[in-house]
Amino acid sequence: MPLCCTPSSEDILVDRDSDSSLENSEPWSLTALSLWKCDYNGFFRKNAYLLLIVAAIVLGTCLGYALHASNMTDLQIYYLLFPGELLLRMLQMMFLPLVISNLITAMSSVDKTSSGKMGLFAFCYYVTTTFLAVFTGIVLVVLIQPGKSLTPNVSPGDTTDSIHPVDAFLDLIRDMFPTNLVEACFRKYKTIYSEMETLDVNMTVKNNPTPTPGTIDGVNILGLGVFCIVFGLVLAKMEDEAKPLKDFFGCLSKAIMRLVSVFLWYYPVGIFFLVAGQILKLKDLSVLGPQVCMYALTVITGLAIHCLFTMPLIYLIFARKNPFKFMASLLEALTTALGTSSSYVTLPISMKCLENNLRLDKRVTRFMMPIGAVLTMDGTALYEAVATIFIAQVYNMELDLGQIIIISMTATVASIGGSGIPQGGIVTMAMVLSSVGVPLEGVSYIIPVDWMMDRLRTTTNVLSDCFGVGVVHHQLQAPAEDWLVEEEAEIPFD
Ligand code: ASP
Repeated sequence: MPLCCTPSSEDILVDRDSDSSLENSEPWSLTALSLWKCDYNGFFRKNAYLLLIVAAIVLGTCLGYALHASNMTDLQIYYLLFPGELLLRMLQMMFLPLVISNLITAMSSVDKTSSGKMGLFAFCYYVTTTFLAVFTGIVLVVLIQPGKSLTPNVSPGDTTDSIHPVDAFLDLIRDMFPTNLVEACFRKYKTIYSEMETLDVNMTVKNNPTPTPGTIDGVNILGLGVFCIVFGLVLAKMEDEAKPLKDFFGCLSKAIMRLVSVFLWYYPVGIFFLVAGQILKLKDLSVLGPQVCMYALTVITGLAIHCLFTMPLIYLIFARKNPFKFMASLLEALTTALGTSSSYVTLPISMKCLENNLRLDKRVTRFMMPIGAVLTMDGTALYEAVATIFIAQVYNMELDLGQIIIISMTATVASIGGSGIPQGGIVTMAMVLSSVGVPLEGVSYIIPVDWMMDRLRTTTNVLSDCFGVGVVHHQLQAPAEDWLVEEEAEIPFD
């Protein structure tokens, strides 16, 4: 039985084959067979929803280009984007309840051995892919040297460094333990330095920058995630005593997924306006300097290698299935990531693709996807490492191996602490830049192309999370680790 009544290609119009194996699933059902038989009617019926999305993207692009000549003002574009903004708001609304209910349900409903195994596989996958992403980025930026010939306006010595990497790191750990769970839904911790008057030994007044606790806007998803994981584990330990709460969160999770399905009917309309608005906002790349274009090309090459080579190879090795077929089934999620620049917003759609199109086990998707969306961002880690080294090259700073290792580590930590919101990565990048003393103002060099980099790295983030589910699902289904198969009857979501 499908998870819920979603308007996805198979759920709207067709009763799909209920076989859960990936080989038997047809990615977006573009079957050569149906065309071969000239069964156009069946083909269109089967793929109506997907065709609607593709049509929305194509028409949105055409509208965007058609309106380009009319030189619309920013205000007009802002109004044109309104229906697209509504889609983003609907999906954003789903994010917190979805993550909270799924994390608690997943942690509370899988037994110790299996959740340990799944957790271990997931951890190994996330660490490996993030490391490979950062490594790819660093190798490319060191080889290509995109920032070498730019003449900086300021020397590194002229800059004032207002971010303390140690504080940024400690804030990340503080965020894991929010003092107020309600506040954590909309604010994060941030150490702020304020000037305090102090007397020195000669009794003269001095102004000393002193760290004081502060907060900034944004969901403290790290804190909420830690709470949900621990809370879920406690519920699991309480066994039958915790049944009412387990049922509550299980039911909440199901209800939210159904709600997502309802909102998905609006998806083609929203995506049409989002795409049109984004095309209208497009800047002419020719006005950017060649070095910035080279930087963009370096990031794009790195992301392409990670998406089209590294991750597919990992999937092929561990799942022994066609990774590109897998990717084709995720088209809705990938276009959403590209269109919205937010992996949080894309989460419900990614989960639907994995569960409905690929028929992966819900216990794996609901355990891994919220954690993946919250904690791992391969694309962001790659981009932060490349951007930091690019800016260092712009300022003619020579980085030694030790500094490059620090960059790779802080880029990984920063991507964990980053938010899956549009341009969330640029916020945490300050931490990577300051870890090796690269001037923060250097960010201004990469800002002009960041809208595009953001879309691509978000797509990479989402794809990496999805591949992770695919890999872990197949690992757990392997003959020696077949608890998934054995426990099929106990799936709490069906
Ligand atoms: N926009 C990205 C995401 O949502 C985060 C980033 O800016 O790197 O995954």
